[in-house]
Amino acid sequence: AGKKVLIVYAHQEPKSLNGSLKTIAVEELTKQGCSVTVSDLYEMQFEPRSTRKDIIGDLYNPEQFNYGVEAWEAFKNGCLSEDLIEEQRKVREADLVIFQFPLYWFSMPAIMKGWLDRVFVQGFAHNFPQCYETGLLKNKLALLSFTTGGDEGIYSDEGVSGNIRYLLWPMQHGIMHFCGLSILAPHICFAPEYASEEEREQMLTSWVERLKTIWEEEPIKCTAEWYYK
Ligand code: FAD
Ligand code: ZN
Repeated sequence: AGKKVLIVYAHQEPKSLNGSLKTIAVEELTKQGCSVTVSDLYEMQFEPRSTRKDIIGDLYNPEQFNYGVEAWEAFKNGCLSEDLIEEQRKVREADLVIFQFPLYWFSMPAIMKGWLDRVFVQGFAHNFPQCYETGLLKNKLALLSFTTGGDEGIYSDEGVSGNIRYLLWPMQHGIMHFCGLSILAPHICFAPEYASEEEREQMLTSWVERLKTIWEEEPIKCTAEWYYK
């Protein structure tokens, strides 16, 4: 109770399984007394591109545009665009950030990747050498909750796609852990489109069951071993 959760959600269709997973998470967490905020990226028409428009006013170096440097300077001077300031405020307040999405090309949909590209700015989320254990978002939790097209067998050690953990390394370690977040085990619903109605209902039930004790969970030990052991 009293915890704050941000759900960053990327699906076009509210009736999708991702939509249902998001809705049911809001319900359960709210019931627990958590305050829940949802960034519904498609609904917001969130801008995924990192461009000049993200910096309000004069550039630090107008001669040659370097996005990383400009965003860092703009962050320090309070000159980032309004949508970024708003998303950063949501992240700053959150104890737990849940990313809810369908797997696109072994990764997250472009709109969510764009959210990370633009929101996790240097100075806000990391500031070398402040990264990994000393990343600026330390003391917060991140959880990837996603659906796949492929079934569990395909994403096993013997499967053609390889162990699902291989593709979690860039997202969980390269982005979240780099920025200091502690990583809770991912929540994966395999192949909902090929599941029966009962199996899909079971997927939703097990997500709610997990959320009931989410605050007791220990983060994973997020090193290369966890992914590639
Ligand atoms: P939906 O089709 O929306 O949901 C499945 C079914 O669940 C629907 O019939 C829906 O009505 C039903 N449902 C919704 N709510 C409930 C409820 N409360 N109770 C019961 N049933 C419900 N897959 C991979 O494995 N690897 C990839 O690399 C990959 N890359 C992709 C790239 C692109 C560009 C695209 C478009 C897809 C890719 N996919 C990939 C497939 C994608 O991951 C799946 O299509 C997606 O995860 C399915 O989730 P969904 O929420 O969209 O399913
Ligand atoms: Zn890690």
